[in-house]
Amino acid sequence: MKLMTFDDGAGPRVGVLGPDGTVADVSATAGVGETMLEVVEAGEEGLASIRAALTSSPLHRVDSVRVRAPIMPRNNVMAVGRNYHDHAKEFSASGFDASEKKMIPDHPIIFTKALSSIVAPGDAIDTSMDPSGTSDYEGELAVVIGTGGHRIAAADAMAHVFGYTVINDVTARALQAQHVQFFIGKSAATFCPMGPCIVTADEFGDIGAARLRTTVNGEPRQDAPISDLIFDIPTLIEAISAAVRLQPGDVIATGTPSGVGIGFDPPVYLQPGDVVEVSIDGIGTLRNPVV
Ligand code: MG
Repeated sequence: MKLMTFDDGAGPRVGVLGPDGTVADVSATAGVGETMLEVVEAGEEGLASIRAALTSSPLHRVDSVRVRAPIMPRNNVMAVGRNYHDHAKEFSASGFDASEKKMIPDHPIIFTKALSSIVAPGDAIDTSMDPSGTSDYEGELAVVIGTGGHRIAAADAMAHVFGYTVINDVTARALQAQHVQFFIGKSAATFCPMGPCIVTADEFGDIGAARLRTTVNGEPRQDAPISDLIFDIPTLIEAISAAVRLQPGDVIATGTPSGVGIGFDPPVYLQPGDVVEVSIDGIGTLRNPVV
């Protein structure tokens, strides 16, 4: 199922996106609550009650409602640095990576983005929030954790995945370099567009086969299969949960492939008037204008 958070004017609700451009309001019928976090926490039972309620749920046209970020997790959005080989090379060559010891890290580089950076599909990425004027895009697959846990083995990790969404890990490059730790450069308000929906894990046979593509003003910038990840999803979940107790609804952005703005010489930063679109097969397109 493609689950989304939408607002028809009566507050946020959880909906199921249909192939015909409709969204079924399952908050009203399935008794799953009004937030995606509640749906994730309800687990398989919650999904079963959504499926059962689908035919009797009120339908809206998706273009007549406001689509929101699909989930607001409890914890900061977790994210992974240098997790595609070609991007590791371009990041290293750019001189912006203050964390670098080795171009290809021995262990995943994990940082977080503040919850206050999350915005919806269609919301503006506000470059005035970045005092350095070096705002850049990073198209990424994000994993939504279902059942939480501590010390999850890689072999068991996929059973903890609720679903997948798309994130643009917008980054203030000069701040990322200047503060060594990535948090400030990754957390400006509006710098975490997310959506348009969460596709439940059962819809994907092999998420690795999906391709991620990013365009700026329609110009292709990033294009890679998810299988190019250096550290795959089970490895990331094992590494993070070795110390961190993962909670239902936690979001892990898995890293970006090559083709970001600092891969150009000279770097090409986002400018007001640009439009960034990040698409992943089977999930959809996250489109955000830049102001
Ligand atoms: Mg990133």
